[in-house]
Amino acid sequence: MTLTQTTLANWGNYPAIEARVATPESIEEVRACLLSQERLIARGNGKCYGDAALGPSVLSTLRLNRVLQFEPQTGQIECQAGVLLADLLELVVPAGWFFHVTPGIKFITVGGAIASDVHGKNHPAKGCFSNWLHSFELMLASGEIVTCSRTEHPDLFWQTCGGMGWTGIILSAKFQLMEISSAQLRQMTVRAADLDRLFSAFEENRRWPYQVAWLDGMHPHGRGAVFLAEHLREREASSPLTFPAKKSVNVPLFAPAWLLNPLTIKTYNELFYRKNQPNEKVVDLDACFYPLDRIGHWNRLYGRRGFIQYQCCLPEEQSLEGLKKMLALIQKSPETPFLTVLKRHGERPPEAVHSFPIKGYSLALDFPRTKTIFHLVEKLDDLVWSLGGKIYLTKDACSAPRMGQVNPSAFGSEKFYSLLKERLLQPDKRLEE
Ligand SMILES: Cc1cc2nc3c(=O)[nH]c(=O)nc-3n(C[C@H](O)[C@H](O)[C@H](O)COP(=O)(O)OP(=O)(O)OC[C@H]3O[C@@H](n4cnc5c(N)ncnc54)[C@H](O)[C@@H]3O)c2cc1C
Repeated sequence: MTLTQTTLANWGNYPAIEARVATPESIEEVRACLLSQERLIARGNGKCYGDAALGPSVLSTLRLNRVLQFEPQTGQIECQAGVLLADLLELVVPAGWFFHVTPGIKFITVGGAIASDVHGKNHPAKGCFSNWLHSFELMLASGEIVTCSRTEHPDLFWQTCGGMGWTGIILSAKFQLMEISSAQLRQMTVRAADLDRLFSAFEENRRWPYQVAWLDGMHPHGRGAVFLAEHLREREASSPLTFPAKKSVNVPLFAPAWLLNPLTIKTYNELFYRKNQPNEKVVDLDACFYPLDRIGHWNRLYGRRGFIQYQCCLPEEQSLEGLKKMLALIQKSPETPFLTVLKRHGERPPEAVHSFPIKGYSLALDFPRTKTIFHLVEKLDDLVWSLGGKIYLTKDACSAPRMGQVNPSAFGSEKFYSLLKERLLQPDKRLEE
């Protein structure tokens, strides 16, 4: 199995490294690659933001992309790990099925969904991807393949969900889909002039299965809009069960670094706030769950230096005051947050030790990677830690190692090695600006 030298980065375009990448098409090729390398890391579609799916040797699963079994009567599906959620949607939606849990992007692989144990806008009711996972096949460092489920190798099952690829290579997975009778949703927008009202809007609208908010991170009081949604029933819907993904426009080149500056972001926030008047409308699955996917390569808007996403989760009782403190810290700094997303989270099953969400609220903030961004991240880390919060490792590129609350040395094998793992094992390493 040959490995090809290439420059590789994840969605944040930072860090970018020279890596050797193999793209096997069969299980035998996966094994051959694994055994030929001293260390390597599995990679799905590189849609984590920071340094998780990066290392000197990388095994891409993108050609392990076959659906193995789909039962339209029960909604159980089995596929190889490199299948994209986008491809599954075209198959399952016309048969009346959708994902119980989906992140805000459809261009991720099933392997990536498990290794990050992704969550969606319905975490209090549906939990993470692992909640709906029956089993998966995992190739260990020795090349042996084990089936992991809640009853077979349960420790390995739970360590792999959210385990960032450090237990082995997920080859295939079997999981349960959710029945839908229409491909449309009712979506309601509630606008809020400050963070207190934004929180009230979440709390008063708990009956809606999907809740997510946009927050104006530059506004002194943290104004925003909460988007609530629920699936329409068959008789309410006007379109058939299909998944016509919206045509996307593409950002063809890296934008100049100055494009996203305080003035342009403030203007964008003002327009976005005005545009999102309180309203109720019917939208399709693509518009509701994957609005950002319509702009291909939008990460290039941040320029070649890339960007950092800081996503943290705070315990419920600390969330409102904690987020106010975070906003104050950010607004005192020279950094400018863009695309700020707030979500409510429910309880975490005790076995799901590596899943990111804890009961409370999470905030995701994108920052252009300026020369000074790491200073702000350090301060945010200290604040989030003092409030009992944590960060999401799949988005991380520069937080303090303690912040993900995962200890990489607890993962037996040294074979599975990423830059993220190395960074978390070296607490004192300073990042270059
Ligand atoms: C626009 C956008 C929106 C997002 N929204 C959300 C959201 O709402 N909720 C959420 O939870 N996440 C969200 N994410 C993050 C994304 O869902 C995760 O990072 C996901 O893991 C990416 O999947 P991938 O296939 O691209 O995996 P990669 O980015 O390639 O890899 C991610 C991790 O999974 C491991 N991995 C991948 N495949 C395998 C495998 N076969 N075996 C073992 N390990 C493997 C890698 O080693 C790495 O540690 C978002 C990302 C973007 C870009």
